[in-house]
Amino acid sequence: MKIRLLMPAVDAPSPLQFTVSMLIDDQIAIDTGGLPYLGSIDAQKQVEHIFLTHSHIDHIGGLPLLLDNIFQPGPQCPNIYTGEATWQAIEQDLFNDRIWPDLNRLTREDLAFYRKHILDAHRPVQVGSYQITPIPLEHVVPTLGYVIETTESSVLMAWDTAPFAEFESIVMAIPNLKAIFLDASFPNEMLWLAERSLHNTPGQFQRMVANLPSDIRLIAAHLKPAYYDQLVKQLNGLGLPNLEIACREKVYEF
Ligand SMILES: [Zn+2]
Ligand SMILES: [Zn+2]
Repeated sequence: MKIRLLMPAVDAPSPLQFTVSMLIDDQIAIDTGGLPYLGSIDAQKQVEHIFLTHSHIDHIGGLPLLLDNIFQPGPQCPNIYTGEATWQAIEQDLFNDRIWPDLNRLTREDLAFYRKHILDAHRPVQVGSYQITPIPLEHVVPTLGYVIETTESSVLMAWDTAPFAEFESIVMAIPNLKAIFLDASFPNEMLWLAERSLHNTPGQFQRMVANLPSDIRLIAAHLKPAYYDQLVKQLNGLGLPNLEIACREKVYEF
């Protein structure tokens, strides 16, 4: 599987992750931050399956714009998957005719904007040749990480999260795990904010991965743009040979 982080920036390519989204083989997305800025409508339409981690705006903010970009009258529409709490936030707080039109109200029998799928933690769904399993993370709202599994390999997406007790056993149970994209939001000096907002610092990142096999690639993601340089320095200072910083140019192949 080929994975790309969508990290849009307007005037020049930037290593900063202003908004969060990831594209798997051009057809499955995890979160929506950069989706509506993919360079062609065809590329946006190709994304048939969208998995949302949680309701924070850096993750769902691209969703209304994407649906608007690709809408055409007819039954064709993307499948959207997330947990019940995130659906509630989307349908009550976002698609409410104030922030964005209530798309359910606009829906007709022959015309849909999206197909709704409600996920339960730990219950896998099959999308083509991919098995996708939602994993509950530790964040201020109910949040799902995702294990993407093919016959060749598995990858875990784990943002936004703080450390939690079950993480290690969850990771160890994933067959053929090649990489973890893991939250590294705030520098160590801002531990107080990381603890209150339930994100990682490099120190907490290290705690989460301390006992994991070193052949799993660790890809630090969700670095807060304002602290990027500081975070890169602190992450590289951890001395983990299998650590990388999430990068927009790279196509990750597993
Ligand atoms: Zn969040
Ligand atoms: Zn976030």
